[in-house]
Amino acid sequence: MDIGFIGLGQMGFHMARRLAEAGHRLTVFDTQRAAMDRLTALGAQAAASPREVADQAETMMVSLPTPDIVLAVATGPGGAIEGKSVRRFVDLSTTGAVMAKRIFERLKAKNIVQIDCPVSGGTTGAEKGTLALMVSGPRAEVKAIEPALAAIGKFFFISEKPGAGQTMKLCNNFLSAAAMTATSEAMVMGVKAGLDPRIMLDVINSGTGRNTATEDKFGRVVLPRLFNLGFTVGLMTKDLKLCLGEGKALGVPMEVAEAVTRLLQTACDENGADKDLTTVVQAVERRAGVEVRVPRESGPLGK
Ligand code: NAD
Repeated sequence: MDIGFIGLGQMGFHMARRLAEAGHRLTVFDTQRAAMDRLTALGAQAAASPREVADQAETMMVSLPTPDIVLAVATGPGGAIEGKSVRRFVDLSTTGAVMAKRIFERLKAKNIVQIDCPVSGGTTGAEKGTLALMVSGPRAEVKAIEPALAAIGKFFFISEKPGAGQTMKLCNNFLSAAAMTATSEAMVMGVKAGLDPRIMLDVINSGTGRNTATEDKFGRVVLPRLFNLGFTVGLMTKDLKLCLGEGKALGVPMEVAEAVTRLLQTACDENGADKDLTTVVQAVERRAGVEVRVPRESGPLGK
C-alpha cells in the first residue's frame, strides 16, 4: 500500500519502520528533520508538509503528541484536508473522543474518512509489532487498512462510531496510570519501612496486587534508576485530563482518576513534563525521604 506517515517519534518511528519493512511504500513527515532521516534511510520518501503527504497517499497515518496538533495536521492550513489523494486519515495518537469526532466531521466534508486507531503497548510493543490497536470507523474503510495494521499490532475492532477507539484507549491508560501511581506509593511505603523492593515485587507479582507497574516498569526501569520507559509523564497527564473530561461529560464519578492526575501533574511540575512517566515515583520519594532502588550493601537474597 502507499501510506503517508506523520509523527516519527518514540512510537511513530517504530510503527513506520515496521510498515516499510513489510513492503509498504511510505511518504513521511515530521517537524524534526532527524526523525525523517531515520526513515528515508530505510527507503521512505520525505515530504515537506502534511498536505504533501496527503497528495501522495490514499491512506495517511499520524502518531502525534496532542489533540491540537492532530487537529492542525488534519484540518489546518497545509494539512491533510488539502491533499489531492488522501481518502483515509488514521489517528494512532491518543486524542480523545471529543477531538476524534470533531476531526471526523471536518474531514467528512471533504470525503476523507477519519479512523481512530490509538495504540497500547509502549515503545517495546511498537518495536516488536505487538501493540494493541483500538480501531473504530466505518467497517469497509477499516477493512481496507487491516493488512497495514497487521504490521504494527493486534487489531481490536471497537465500533463504527467515531471516537469509540479513543474512549477505549482512555479507559486503558487511566488503569495504566493508576497502576503506576499507586505502585509508587506502595513501594515507597515499603522501602521506608525497611523492606527490600526486590522482595516486594516478587511477593506482589505472586499475589493479587500485581499490575503492569510491578510486573514490568519497576523492575526494569525504576529499581535500576534508568527512567527510560519511552513515554513522557506529560503525555500521560494529557491522557488522564482527556479521561477526566470524558468521564465528566458522561456523568461518571472519577475520584480515583482525579487523584492519579494530581500526582502526575505534581511530577510534571517538579521534574518536567518531558521526563519519563516512571519519574512519578520521585514525587512520592521526595516527600518520604527515601528512594526505591536496589539496596547498596545488599548481599544475596535470603542469606
Ligand atoms: P513523541 O513526542 O516521541 O513523538 C511525536 C513526534 O511528532 C515527534 O517526532 C515530533 O517531532 C512530531 N511532531 C510534533 N508536532 C508535529 C507536527 N505539527 N507535524 C509533524 N510532526 C510533528 O511522542 P510519542 O511518545 O511517540 O507519542 C505519540 C502519540 O502516541 C501520543 O499521542 C501518545 O500519547 C501516544 N502513545 C504513546 C506511547 C508511548 O509509550 N510513548 C504509547 C501509546 C500511545
